[in-house]
Amino acid sequence: MSDSNFVPVSIPSHGYDMHTHSLRSDGTLTPSELVQRAYAAGVRVLALTDHDVTDGIAEAQVAACRLGIRLIAGVEVSVTWQSQTLHIVGLNISPDRSELQQGLARLREFRQWRAEEIGRRLRKKRIEGAYEGAARLARGTIISRTHFARFLVDQGYVRGPQQAFRQFLARGQAGHVPGRWAALEEAVQWIVSAGGRAVVAHPARYKLSAGKLRQLLGEFRECGGAAIEVISGSHTPDANRHFAGIAREHGFLASAGSDYHGPQKTWMDLGRLPALPDGCVPVWQDWERSGLRAEDLVLSPQS
Ligand code: AMP
Ligand code: MN
Ligand code: MN
Ligand code: MN
Repeated sequence: MSDSNFVPVSIPSHGYDMHTHSLRSDGTLTPSELVQRAYAAGVRVLALTDHDVTDGIAEAQVAACRLGIRLIAGVEVSVTWQSQTLHIVGLNISPDRSELQQGLARLREFRQWRAEEIGRRLRKKRIEGAYEGAARLARGTIISRTHFARFLVDQGYVRGPQQAFRQFLARGQAGHVPGRWAALEEAVQWIVSAGGRAVVAHPARYKLSAGKLRQLLGEFRECGGAAIEVISGSHTPDANRHFAGIAREHGFLASAGSDYHGPQKTWMDLGRLPALPDGCVPVWQDWERSGLRAEDLVLSPQS
């Protein structure tokens, strides 16, 4: 594009979504469907961040190119930190780097064993066929607790996924198997080795005390972590504000993501994220320009 054609454009705040899932993990849309829906909802810079797997990125990239929007290659890595499960999102990764892929392969192996173990534990509660049911719903990709929740709903054991987690799958319940995921420093290292930025996903969900949070963020920075997810579809507005303050105070970049899993809307729909509060430095600050067509940026239905 020549300078004379340059149109200064600005992407509205809901035009960035740095955290979404496809059916390559526990979402329900194909990567192409996800990209199309995101585009229709006004998203112009979209990260696909499936759990422990990057298989959907190539397809999402093709769909994004067709629509002229920017696809950020991402992943959501499962981490065990002080016997608690945390999620670290990697953004703008080169997915085919071997250190990352070997690490993710190890997590998927644990995930497979864990799925079988969840099945055995639920059988003791007289729930038959849970592993097979969850595996069927996962359609050959990673098996998540989300698939067990859908199985329990489909079979009438619970009324909805929230109840499935509360009653069977959450920590302390019969079907819960403690994680043996990546160490925090491993997850960050895999992401950094793939050229990406590591982001603490949905920090409000861990319900850490102020002291533990400070410790986590200290270790995270120490091993190369770059950002925290200030805005999450699973946060309350108060939590968004709180973590905006934390990001500013600790000098982390700020991310925003819906954590969209499909039209059944676990948390929030696409294209509805509020703006990052003042003073936050967006994690995407140096990514947004490339690969975008100006005409797409001004068509957002909600701007
Ligand atoms: P897993 O990585 O297999 O342990 O599954 C974690 C996933 O379960 C998360 O990424 C969410 O998609 C989903 N999840 C966790 N807690 C809940 C909940 N209370 N209600 C609905 N989905 C949940
Ligand atoms: Mn999920
Ligand atoms: Mn998560
Ligand atoms: Mn997620």
